[in-house]
Amino acid sequence: MDVRAHVAMVFHLDKCIGCHTCSVACKNVWTDRPGAEYMWWNNVETKPGTGYPTLWEDQLNYKGGWELTANRELKLRCQNKVSSFLKLFYNPNQPGLDDYYEPWTYKYQDLFDAEAGDDQPTAVPVSQITGEVIDIEAGPNWDDDLSGSPVYAENDPNLRHLTEDERRMLFEIENISMMYLPRICNHCANPSCVASCPSGALYKRGEDGIVLVNQDKCRGWRACVSACPYKKMYYNWQTGKSEKCILCYPRVETGQPPACFHACVGRIRYMGVLLYDADRIEEAMKAPEHSLVEAQRSVILDPNDPEVVRGAAESGVSDIFVAVARRSPVYKYVKEWELALPLHPEFRTMPMLYYVPPLLPISGRMGDGIYEHDADEFFSHLDKARLPMRYLAALFAAGNEEIVRLVMKKQMAVRYFKRAQEVDDVDPEKVKRVLREAHVTPETAEAIYRMTALGNMENRYVMPPIQREEAIEGMGNNGCSPEFCKGACGFGATQPPRRGA
Ligand code: SF4
Ligand code: SF4
Repeated sequence: MDVRAHVAMVFHLDKCIGCHTCSVACKNVWTDRPGAEYMWWNNVETKPGTGYPTLWEDQLNYKGGWELTANRELKLRCQNKVSSFLKLFYNPNQPGLDDYYEPWTYKYQDLFDAEAGDDQPTAVPVSQITGEVIDIEAGPNWDDDLSGSPVYAENDPNLRHLTEDERRMLFEIENISMMYLPRICNHCANPSCVASCPSGALYKRGEDGIVLVNQDKCRGWRACVSACPYKKMYYNWQTGKSEKCILCYPRVETGQPPACFHACVGRIRYMGVLLYDADRIEEAMKAPEHSLVEAQRSVILDPNDPEVVRGAAESGVSDIFVAVARRSPVYKYVKEWELALPLHPEFRTMPMLYYVPPLLPISGRMGDGIYEHDADEFFSHLDKARLPMRYLAALFAAGNEEIVRLVMKKQMAVRYFKRAQEVDDVDPEKVKRVLREAHVTPETAEAIYRMTALGNMENRYVMPPIQREEAIEGMGNNGCSPEFCKGACGFGATQPPRRGA
C-alpha cells in the first residue's frame, strides 16, 4: 500500500443556481489578460447542452483521456509513439477558436464620443483578437438555460444513450428541464494531460496532487489540450504556452479556499483531503466501465484505519494532512455516504472533483388541460425524473444506472426524513421504510442534511495551510529526497527554491 494525500472536491448540483459568480471570480483573478481572453478555467454549463468548448464530451472527435486496449493496457486515446511525433506539427483533434468562441468586448468609448442625435448610442461588439467589429455567434455559456432548444440541447452527446421515446419526452414543453454543471480542472489522479506532454512540463504536486504547468518547460506543443478529455487545458496564443486551473494554490497554501469556492453563491463547493492508495490506481482505472465508480471509490482509504495511518507516515504524508482527512467533507460525500460521483469516469483519468447529481422534478403530461403526474409512491417516480436516469448515468457513472438510482434514493430519503421532522405530514412507518430501502440510518440522514443545507465555510472547506516551503526545505539536507520521502517533497519540488531573486 502506497498511501498518499490528495486535495479533492465535491460540487453539490442540487444547490447550484447557475449564477456564474464562480466563473467571473476566476476570470477576474486569473485569465483577464492578453492571450487568455477565451479561457474560462471555471465555467458553468447548462445540461442538456453542448458545453464549452462545443461538444467537449465527444471523444470520437477530440480523442481525449485514456482507452483500454484489447490487452487491458491503458493507452492515451490521442496518441501513440508515432502519432505523438507527427501530431506535434498537425493535430486534427485540437479544438479551434470556433469550438471555443471568438472573445469580444464592446466599443464602450462610442457611448461617450457619439454625436448628439435622436437615437441612443450603442457600443458594438469587437473581437479581442483582431479588434474588428464582429457578429457574436457563440460564447462560453451560449446554451445557457436553453434546455429543450433543438439547436443546442439536442446535440448533447450524452443523449445518445437515451431511447427515441426518452429523447422525445425530454423535449416536450411540459417536461423541459435542465441542470447546471460547473466545471473546473479535476486535478485527476491519473491525468492524461501530464502523460501526454512531450516536454515534461506538466506535473502533479506530490504533497496535494494539484496539477500544474511549468511555464519555463512548456514548449506549446498542445498535446495536453488534446489529451485532457474535459478540455480544461488551454493554449495562450500570446505567450505560446499552455495554461490551466491552478486551484488557486497560493490561496490554498495560506489556508484560504480557491476564489471560485469563496465566491460560490449557492455554497455548493466542498474541499478536503482524501488519502488514497497510489499502488492501486492503474488497476482501478482498468476496471470494466460499469464498475469504474466502485473501483475509484475502492482506491480511497479510510483515514481512521491504523494501517492507513501507518502507511501515510511511511510515505511522508504529514500528520496534519491525516488529521484533516478525518474531517474531510469530500470523504463523507464520496466514500462514507456514496453520494458524490466522478464526471465521466469512463475517461479513466480518475477525476478528483466529484458531483452530487441533482434530484430533479418528475415528468408529467398534459391531459385535458391539466398537468398530470404519478408521484404517490416513494422512489417509483425516480424513474420518471425529467432528466432520465440513463442521462445522469451517462454523465456520472459510465452508464451504470443502479449507482445513480441509489444516490437519488438516498437524497429522497433525507428529504422525507426531514419533512417528517419539520412538517410532520409523513407517516413515520413510511419514513423508516424509505430510509431502510436507501440504506441510510437516521443519524446519517441527519448528518447529510446538516452538511448539505447548513454547512458553513469551516465545514465545507477543510484544508490545512500547506507547508510548501517546509516541504521544499526538507530536500537535500536530511536524506529527505523525493525517493525517500515523496509525500513531503513530491514531483513538483525536485529543485530547491531560489530566494531573494
Ligand atoms: S481535468 Fe485537469 S488534471 Fe484532468 S486531464 Fe484535464 S487538465 Fe489534466
Ligand atoms: S457561483 Fe456557485 S451557485 Fe453560482 S453558478 Fe457557480 S457553482 Fe453554481
